[in-house]
Amino acid sequence: MAATRTLNTFRLPPLPTIREIIKLFKLKAVKQLSQNFLLDLRLTDKIVRKAGNLTDAYVYEVGPGPGGITRSILNASVTELLVVEKDSRFIPGLQMLSDAAPGKLRVVHGDVLTFKVERVFPQSLKRRWEDDPPNVHIIGNLPFNVSTPLIIKWLENVSLRNGPFAYGRTQMTLTFQKEVAERLTATTGSKQRSRLSIMAQYLCDVQHILTIPGRAFIPKPEVDVGLVHFTPLTRPRIEQPFKLVEKVVQNVFQFRRKYCHRGLRMLFPEAQRLESTGKLLQLADVDPTLRPIQLSVSHFKSLCDVYRKMCDDDPHLFAYNFREELKQKSENKR
Ligand code: SAM
Repeated sequence: MAATRTLNTFRLPPLPTIREIIKLFKLKAVKQLSQNFLLDLRLTDKIVRKAGNLTDAYVYEVGPGPGGITRSILNASVTELLVVEKDSRFIPGLQMLSDAAPGKLRVVHGDVLTFKVERVFPQSLKRRWEDDPPNVHIIGNLPFNVSTPLIIKWLENVSLRNGPFAYGRTQMTLTFQKEVAERLTATTGSKQRSRLSIMAQYLCDVQHILTIPGRAFIPKPEVDVGLVHFTPLTRPRIEQPFKLVEKVVQNVFQFRRKYCHRGLRMLFPEAQRLESTGKLLQLADVDPTLRPIQLSVSHFKSLCDVYRKMCDDDPHLFAYNFREELKQKSENKR
């Protein structure tokens, strides 16, 4: 018997251009909200192609604005697209798009920083973590001041396998300031290597897949934009709690030009600082004179594993914060 599977070949009907939508609904970009729009649908098609094969996919688009990327996603044979937009001025235009794609586009007026996506798609999409990624994708061109805190929040969700990652290893394709995209993907020893490089790379395969010149946006931002693709790893390269890894990485990079022992020292109260830092470096087998940018993810793994053991032996250690100790000292002096 011939296969009965119908092909998902939906195309949007002819619609006003994005430029016309912006005019029609008076959608002037608000500078304070860092709104920069993509009007060229060939470019939004390219961005969406870079997200991977979206056939029959369930897609969560963050910050759709006037809907350029939204249109390209709808034309990519997806099963369902959910968009979350904070600025109410965009909702009528998105609603119009939803009418043109019956049953495919759900528009939510909300904030991506608080929106809970884990229950909106069918639970049958869920995959075991070790399996191939589920057919669930996150795509977005958000303002830079939102995309960086959001990726930190989502990386923590990756480590906990909750939020958007309750479906499994959900893939993300997101824009960042080019410089941030470079930091996210920076390799050991490169000058862009930073806290973000380690936090992203210990949990995900991270690829800088496209650079979009600033002039492609209206209005033009001051900087170029990098498109970054994230696929959570089946096994994180550091198997310790996210907050512990974040603490070690933050301490190391706060003195990014010094030797790494300088930042690591601040993990410990002053009275035990020298001795404990020496012990940490020795047990982790890390050369104290390496600079932060020279440390690989596997160096951080060893440091985090040893620091975890030290925290298990001393229940007060993890809560220790050298800034609070400094504050206390200066108050005592008054
Ligand atoms: N995706 C559109 C495009 O590429 O043309 C718009 C991009 S514009 C840089 C960012 C969009 O994200 C704006 O529409 C803005 O209102 C929306 N946005 C900003 N912060 C948001 C948040 N916290 N939650 C949801 N949407 C947000």
